[in-house]
Amino acid sequence: MLLPEARRLAPRFAARAGASDRDGTFPADDFAELRAAGFFGLLVPARLGGSGAGFGEYAEIAYELARGNGATALIFNMHASVTGALGGITDELAEALGLPAEALAARDGFLRAAAEGSWYAVAMSERGAGSRLSRMATTYEPVDGGYRISGAKTFCSGAGHADGYLVAARSTDDPGRVSQFLVPAGDGLKVEPTWDALGMRATGSHDLHVDVTVPATALLGGLEGLALVAAQLAPHWMVASYAAVYVGVARAAVDAAIEHVNNRGLGGLPAVRARIGRADAAVSAAHLTVREAARRVDEAPGEAETNRWVWRAKLLAGTTAAEVAASMLEAAGTSAMRRGHPLERLYRDARAGSLQPATSDVCADWLGVEALGGDPDTDGVAPRW
Ligand SMILES: Cc1cc2nc3c(=O)[nH]c(=O)nc-3n(C[C@H](O)[C@H](O)[C@H](O)COP(=O)(O)OP(=O)(O)OC[C@H]3O[C@@H](n4cnc5c(N)ncnc54)[C@H](O)[C@@H]3O)c2cc1C
Repeated sequence: MLLPEARRLAPRFAARAGASDRDGTFPADDFAELRAAGFFGLLVPARLGGSGAGFGEYAEIAYELARGNGATALIFNMHASVTGALGGITDELAEALGLPAEALAARDGFLRAAAEGSWYAVAMSERGAGSRLSRMATTYEPVDGGYRISGAKTFCSGAGHADGYLVAARSTDDPGRVSQFLVPAGDGLKVEPTWDALGMRATGSHDLHVDVTVPATALLGGLEGLALVAAQLAPHWMVASYAAVYVGVARAAVDAAIEHVNNRGLGGLPAVRARIGRADAAVSAAHLTVREAARRVDEAPGEAETNRWVWRAKLLAGTTAAEVAASMLEAAGTSAMRRGHPLERLYRDARAGSLQPATSDVCADWLGVEALGGDPDTDGVAPRW
C-alpha cells in the first residue's frame, strides 16, 4: 500500500517545488524517491512484481503527490497511464482483440521493467494536432525486423529523463491506421528544450524529435491501428487520470491560502473566510467526483455511466483547480503574488488543468451531447481523438 508513502513524500516534494518551478527543471530528487519507494510498479500486476493497484488507488495517490508538487504528480501520471493501460489488458480482452502471444510477452516485459524501476513518458501530442490521434503527422513504416518511426512530438513531460516513450504514429501504408509504440530512450530520440511555460514548468514538457527504428515487439498490442480503440476502451487513462492531480493542486492552494491568512491575521475578514469556505467545498466536491469516477472505473469499466463520471471528473477537476487557485490568491492578497510564494506557483500550475485534453470545453461538449441524447464519441464538431 503506497498511499501512506505518498503522504510522507508530499511535504518533501513541496519543499523542493519552488526551485524546480523557478528553473523549469525536472524534479529529479522527487523521481529518485518515487523509484526507491516502488511507485513505478504501482499499476503493474503483482504477478509481474508490481503493486497491482487499480484506478481508484492510483487516483488517491496522485492526489496526495500533487499536494506536494503538481508537476511531479503530472509526470508520474504519464507513466501511470502507460502502465495502467498495459496492465489493464485482461486475457479476455486480449483474446477478443486477437492480440498475438509475442505482443503479450512484450507487454509483460515493459511492465516488469517498470516494477524494477523504469518509467515511461508519453509522446503523443504534436504541434498543430494537439493530442488528436486521428491527426498525427508522425509516421511509421515496416522495415526488416520492425518499424521505422519519424516525426516531431511536443509537450512531452519528463522528456530526456524517461527510460521509454509511448509514441503515437500513423502508418505510411494506410494513413487511417494509428498505432502506439514503446520506444526505449537513446539514439533516435532528440529532445529540443522548448518548454518555458506559464505553469507546470517543472514538467519539462519539451519537444521530442523521433527518427528511430524499433523491433516489432515495440508495437503495443502487436496489431496496427489500435490507438483509437485503446482511447475508447480505456477513456479514463486518456481523459480523467489527470483529474486527481488537479484536485490535489487545488487542495494545496487552499492549504497555502489558509497558512498565509493565518500568518497575516486575515482570518477575521468575512470575505476572506467565505472565499476559503467556498474553496473548501468546491475542492471537496471535485474530489468526491473523481473518487466516484475511479470507483466505477474499477467496478464497471467502459459502462456508459462510468464514462459519464470519467468526463465529469475531468471537467470539474480542471475548472475547480483554476477557479479555486484564483480565488485563494485574491483572498491572500498581493504579497502572495510574489515569485517564490507557494500560491503564485499553484495559481499558475492550476491554470493548466482545463487545458489538458480532454479540455474543459471538450468535456462539457461531450457531456452536453450525451445529455441531449446524441452519441458523444462521434457527434462532436471535430473527432474527439
Ligand atoms: C502541463 C502539460 C503537460 C503535458 N504533458 C504531455 C505529455 O506528457 N505528453 C503529451 O503527449 N502531451 C502532453 N501535454 C499536451 C496536451 O496534453 C495536449 O496535447 C495539448 O495541450 C494540445 O494542445 P493544443 O495547443 O493543440 O490545444 P488543443 O487541446 O488542441 O486545444 C485548442 C482548442 O481546441 C479545442 N479542442 C481541442 N480538441 C477539440 C475537439 N475534439 N472538439 C472541439 N474542440 C476541441 C480546445 O478546447 C481548445 O479550445 C501536456 C500539456 C500540458 C498543459
